[in-house]
Amino acid sequence: MEDRADAQMPFAQRPIVILGAGIIGCAAARQLLRSGFSVVLVAEYLPGDQNVQYASAWAGAAWHAAGGITPDHRYIQAVTHRIMLRMAQDGPETGVSVVNAREYLEQEPASDSAIWGKTVVSKFRQMKPGEYPAQFNCAWAYETLVTDPTIHMPYLGKQIRSLGGRFVRQRIDSLQELYNMFPESRVFINASGWGSKNLADVKDENCFPERGQNVLLATDNCNTMHFRNGQEYTYVIPRPLSKAVVLGGVKQQGNVSPEIDLSIAQDEIARAHRLAPDIVPEHPAAHTISHIVGIRPSRKGGFRLDSERKGDRIVVSAYGFGGGGYAFSYGIADAVVKMVETAERDHVIC
Ligand SMILES: Cc1cc2nc3c(=O)[nH]c(=O)nc-3n(C[C@H](O)[C@H](O)[C@H](O)COP(=O)(O)OP(=O)(O)OC[C@H]3O[C@@H](n4cnc5c(N)ncnc54)[C@H](O)[C@@H]3O)c2cc1C
Repeated sequence: MEDRADAQMPFAQRPIVILGAGIIGCAAARQLLRSGFSVVLVAEYLPGDQNVQYASAWAGAAWHAAGGITPDHRYIQAVTHRIMLRMAQDGPETGVSVVNAREYLEQEPASDSAIWGKTVVSKFRQMKPGEYPAQFNCAWAYETLVTDPTIHMPYLGKQIRSLGGRFVRQRIDSLQELYNMFPESRVFINASGWGSKNLADVKDENCFPERGQNVLLATDNCNTMHFRNGQEYTYVIPRPLSKAVVLGGVKQQGNVSPEIDLSIAQDEIARAHRLAPDIVPEHPAAHTISHIVGIRPSRKGGFRLDSERKGDRIVVSAYGFGGGGYAFSYGIADAVVKMVETAERDHVIC
């Protein structure tokens, strides 16, 4: 390995540099700080910001088991559930809550469906015919976790600062720019969401923006999630700490418009009313409604999670989480810490 004149800083103080301060970058920062690493996050948008490009400010954000994923990725979701359940127990300041869930299926679940999530959630049971609308093949009831991003992201920002982490607000055009900013650092984490499409030395063509638009309905009836995949992708996600439910959903590939499309909002209200009429009125009063627009950082082929050597640096990539960044977040952070430990071990034990 190259001896660098600038690598005079003690090993323990060389910052691990994270590009991106969404849920992925921040969850990784928190876990690294808790493991004793020094951490700097560089990002255009930081916890508390509300730009449409900053997906983490706008998520539902429910823990829902993803279908069609590998056993390793299932375990990442399970770790996330474990860490977030502890946060829910820690209190409302974390923004994480335990809620009831009802999931409706049009067909018999495939073997690689979300059914694996029953090993992770609590109180899972198959609902009996008559307990759910006859148009569905089957339905599941269980308890899951929801995160209120308006509380969780500022909470996480505060936690990172109190653990000694540092935020630098800056837009960068390449990872090289980061290397120049932190010449003493050896480990860099790319958690830039779909920003990786445009970074000059990443240019990941698989990344693409996927617009989401939701209706936020103010209501006291906010303790049960309703979820329907398949023909009518629709959800009602409770946000008990804000006394509201999130009605969705829609996925618009390649669309980055911040403008609210009222026809989408009306369609979402109609679908949510059909799914959960006891929560969502057919015609909610105008003063109970507001709108959410956010761009999901999606990636063809799924998210990227790997560690690469670039000269005498290690770059860990963790981006492209689409509509599941919260459900994977803390498990990804756990995996990132392990990759950073391996990288640092190689740097120290020559
Ligand atoms: C409407 C909606 C509903 C959703 N519902 C759910 C849900 O129910 N459950 C769930 O798990 N997920 C949900 N998601 C998805 C979730 O929000 C995302 O997967 C998650 O927020 C992605 O986090 P991230 O940190 O990867 O990206 P982001 O939050 O987009 O953060 C990217 C970070 O990188 C920075 N960055 C990028 N490029 C650069 C650059 N060149 N220079 C400097 N900084 C840069 C940005 O400023 C930002 O800090 C939803 C998303 C939307 C929009």
